Amino acid sequence: MAYSYDIIIFGGGIAGLFIANRLQRAGYNLILIEKDVLGGVQTLASQGMIHGGQKYVLQGGISGHAATIAEMPARWEACFAGEGEVDLSGVTFLSEQQMMFPAGSLLSALSVFAAAKAVQGKTRKLKRCKYPDIFRRGPVYEMQEKVLETKSLVTALSGHLEGQIYKGEVQELLPDGQVVVSGLPMRAQMIIFASGTGNETALSLLRIKEQHTQRRPLRQIMVKSLPDPLYGHGIESKPKPRVTVTSHPLGSGEYVWYLGGNVAEEGAKLSEGDALRFAKQEMQEIFPHIDWAQKEWASWCGDRAEPFDPDGHLPQGPCVQQRGKVLLAWPTKMTFAPVLADQIVERLRQSNIMSSAATEPPELPKPKMGLYPWEEARWQHL
Ligand SMILES: Cc1cc2nc3c(=O)[nH]c(=O)nc-3n(C[C@H](O)[C@H](O)[C@H](O)COP(=O)(O)OP(=O)(O)OC[C@H]3O[C@@H](n4cnc5c(N)ncnc54)[C@H](O)[C@@H]3O)c2cc1C
Repeated sequence: MAYSYDIIIFGGGIAGLFIANRLQRAGYNLILIEKDVLGGVQTLASQGMIHGGQKYVLQGGISGHAATIAEMPARWEACFAGEGEVDLSGVTFLSEQQMMFPAGSLLSALSVFAAAKAVQGKTRKLKRCKYPDIFRRGPVYEMQEKVLETKSLVTALSGHLEGQIYKGEVQELLPDGQVVVSGLPMRAQMIIFASGTGNETALSLLRIKEQHTQRRPLRQIMVKSLPDPLYGHGIESKPKPRVTVTSHPLGSGEYVWYLGGNVAEEGAKLSEGDALRFAKQEMQEIFPHIDWAQKEWASWCGDRAEPFDPDGHLPQGPCVQQRGKVLLAWPTKMTFAPVLADQIVERLRQSNIMSSAATEPPELPKPKMGLYPWEEARWQHL
């Protein structure tokens, strides 16, 4: 006897959890299977920024990506207020704003000015007397884009799925909606893989050989302990930020700075030691007044899991592919989770999937919450 559901979702990161919330609200009888820990791989390693498109405008004009992403903050805000498509009223924020600041020579000050002009109306130039202590020169601009405490997001989303989230390993998968999870046969009207790099497992179990996925590596850098938090993008004359910084409280009143942007892209091409030394040098140049010599450093190396793009770039937006009764979903950005869920809802409508009564829960354990990279980092002095 197979356990039977309307929908089985694989993946307990932002994509799987957001989709599960939307489908539960639509009345579907569903379960979510996570193979390891809640919060996944990319979600808890992310910088937690809800982008409103400014970053993409800076990277070369208003692309399709920037146009769609501009609508995202309002959808998330409605959710945070408990009035949106998903109730995220329990989510907490590290910051309500992100800064844009010069990260280089005099030219970078001009770049910040030009960048702020490009996204006019969405940024506010700070008066010099209002600069956070960390900045010794400007111009510094403030963007109203939130930075989330991502564990609180995972807790809020999983909290609405009490008794529906399990830990298990997919062993067999057929395009007609049959699947074996940790030895238990199951079937569903639709199976959804929202499992990041794990979507490759689904494609391989379905015996699909063509390339449908890509991985873009990053080596995020962590440095502690800093007395002040910083959230924002250090702009140079290049389109990508030289560094993107988020800060995470250590509990001692101090912070870990989590560094992305070009520091992480370049770091992915280097050994850990070289990447840390490169990051230290970058930070010395950007913030010469901070004593970086006494700090401790670590890195998180991982992949951004995405649908295949022939040029290897970030795809234009979220993506859903269908193989019979199996959907494969990639948000490409945490920010895009609501649009990904729209696409799933539309596929279910097109495939005529109806909701039915709840059925027996599987005998599987529950997954634990994952850790942030800085909670399991191996720190070193350089
Ligand atoms: C360093 C970094 C920084 C980022 N910063 C931002 C940001 O600031 N803002 C933003 O919008 N986006 C950001 N992103 C992108 C964003 O994090 C990802 O697009 C998003 O988290 C992907 O979510 P996901 O649920 O698809 O994947 P994941 O979070 O990777 O979750 C996938 C889950 O599926 C599980 N899984 C895998 N295989 C299986 C299987 N066979 N069965 C069951 N479960 C399985 C995994 O264990 C994992 O829990 C960042 C990404 C990275 C890597």
